[in-house]
Amino acid sequence: MRKQYFIVLLLLLSLCSGCMDTNSTSEFTDSSTEERFADSENAVTKDVFAMDTYMSLTAFGEEAEYAVDSAISYIEEMDALLSTGLETSEVSQLNSTGAWTLSSDSAAIMKYAIEICNDTDGAFQPLLYPIMEAWGFPDKEYRVPETSELERLLTLTDLSKMHFDPSTGSVFFDLTGMKIDFGGIAKGYISSQIKEIFASCGVTSGMVNLGGNVQVIGTKTDGSPWRVGVQNPDSDGDYLGILDIQDKAIITSGGYERYFEQDGEVYHHIIDPATGYPAQSGLVSVTIVSEDGTLADGLSTALFVMGLEQASAYWEEHKDQFDAILLTDQGELYVTEGIQNVFSSSYEWEIIKEGN
Ligand code: AMP
Ligand code: MG
Repeated sequence: MRKQYFIVLLLLLSLCSGCMDTNSTSEFTDSSTEERFADSENAVTKDVFAMDTYMSLTAFGEEAEYAVDSAISYIEEMDALLSTGLETSEVSQLNSTGAWTLSSDSAAIMKYAIEICNDTDGAFQPLLYPIMEAWGFPDKEYRVPETSELERLLTLTDLSKMHFDPSTGSVFFDLTGMKIDFGGIAKGYISSQIKEIFASCGVTSGMVNLGGNVQVIGTKTDGSPWRVGVQNPDSDGDYLGILDIQDKAIITSGGYERYFEQDGEVYHHIIDPATGYPAQSGLVSVTIVSEDGTLADGLSTALFVMGLEQASAYWEEHKDQFDAILLTDQGELYVTEGIQNVFSSSYEWEIIKEGN
């Protein structure tokens, strides 16, 4: 999986002329952070491994280095708050004790997660962690749970049994064993916060790629849009298409990102909250394009669960908030009309329009 992310990263970087400078020097500061300083245009790119994935941050301008360093510190802080693998994280404390007062960032994510859950009729479900554990995704000790076990665990995903006060950040669970999982939304939130960090440093041009979740800031320094490749799940070195885009989050969910195989069956990490099983909606990849990175991340997961028809209907109702690129298991590619003029592809694709 790591290799796959790295390839996506390289592909994205190679698409951003101005991002990589052939004359740039390479300097390794430690095993997980690589620094590349482009001599021209005050560009700084740094890569970091955090939240179980490779991340790359690029900023242009005089304050680029300060902006990128601040963003990396922020990522590390958020990793420490949200990591389910770290006993001291807020998420782990909440999950093990059933009550916790969240800090402002975690509370902001919780607020979003609840809103998106309610808005998507539960297709996005932040209380799925007991089910993720049953499938062995967190510790990679994969197994196929019994249906009866999943049915029992699904009773712990009832949002009305979680009490959250957004003004104080306090959360408590009514049922023993309830656990939160921000894995479907956290990177989008972090990328949107990095946009703010860059802005506060005066950076008006940049790009962050958090394991395939991309946020572009402004345009390239020559004023042209960023070029972001949307990965083809069937091929490491190929794209479904290219987006010429500025000031947007571009976030993809796909079963191919994390899965295991048992007895010839593939079980991936995006769970249908109605059944507890990996979603089999007929979609293999969903990319959301939005000004709001948190929404984009939550919806990439939710629309994957919904499937083509429901996802298209959802887009129609919310088309002022996002656009989408959907790939079905039949190889059909669909693009919502709001991005038809900024998307190009060597594959055939259909436009999802209002009233279709
Ligand atoms: P993403 O790659 O953004 O689609 O997020 C997938 C991750 O979100 C999984 O690894 C789980 O941690 C979590 N997840 C899985 N299914 C759902 C769901 N239906 N709603 C919310 N989070 C989910
Ligand atoms: Mg997501």
